[in-house]
Amino acid sequence: MEFMREFPDDAACLEHLWRTRCSEDGEHAHCPKCEQERVFKRYATAQGRQSWTCTGCGHHVHPTAGTIFAKSSTSLHLWYYAMYLMTSTRCGISAKQLEREIGVAYKTAWRMLNRIRAELMVQDGEPLSGDVEADETAGGGKVRASDTRKGRQHVIAKMSRRPTIFAAVERGGRVRAAVVNSRSTRDLEGALFEFVLPTSMIFTDEWGGYSRRVGSRYIAHHRIRHEDRVYVSGDVHTQTIDGFFGNLKNGIRGTYHSVSSKWLPTYLNEYAFRYNERDSQRAMFLTLLDRAAA
Ligand SMILES: [Zn+2]
Repeated sequence: MEFMREFPDDAACLEHLWRTRCSEDGEHAHCPKCEQERVFKRYATAQGRQSWTCTGCGHHVHPTAGTIFAKSSTSLHLWYYAMYLMTSTRCGISAKQLEREIGVAYKTAWRMLNRIRAELMVQDGEPLSGDVEADETAGGGKVRASDTRKGRQHVIAKMSRRPTIFAAVERGGRVRAAVVNSRSTRDLEGALFEFVLPTSMIFTDEWGGYSRRVGSRYIAHHRIRHEDRVYVSGDVHTQTIDGFFGNLKNGIRGTYHSVSSKWLPTYLNEYAFRYNERDSQRAMFLTLLDRAAA
């Protein structure tokens, strides 16, 4: 109801893009042909596409030009609703659900979600700082029961092919996550050093992939030894990153069932976006709209 009040139809969504991208008051905008501010009026073109026309020179401006909606045959209203649905659920929405919800073909629904994840939810390159927990996990969904019946070697082979996800998270702050090549020192520290500023305190588990270089590069490197069942000792814990990974894995298992390595980075975008905007669903939706109009 809230969404429908704000964006009742295609025209309202287009008006939103027009005002966000081109014209604050909805009437005056810069005309690239006249090279000055002009009054624009809205007309429908022969193809039924809505555009705004400069009253000085007749130049047409299409507010969707350069956005992910530009060449889509799916209506703007459905795009907006898909973005709304993605931000109003805790764990995301599958293409199958979106197909049912908005009545488009499965492939269309999948492509819409993919573009939103890959382009609108893309992670910014801003580094993390402060108290930062880092960890890695195997991603891409669970090993199927049919694989276990084929014998242990098969399972081990399949497990070892699963992509490694590395993530770092500020306590009380933002997360960054990426697919890395392996659990090797080179790959893990490569990502850590890229994601986290040297003026930080690093918390990891006892995995040997994190070398002494971590301690010398950062203010301090604290390790928590899970094998000793010492999960929490004072400040030395990795509960924040465990929380993020738990959410990611539950989400992938519950909503998407399994995710191919090829698209895993886009799902990391989605869960990082969700985590970083966790304080408000409304803000999450508005951030997506801003990025769509950018
Ligand atoms: Zn003009």
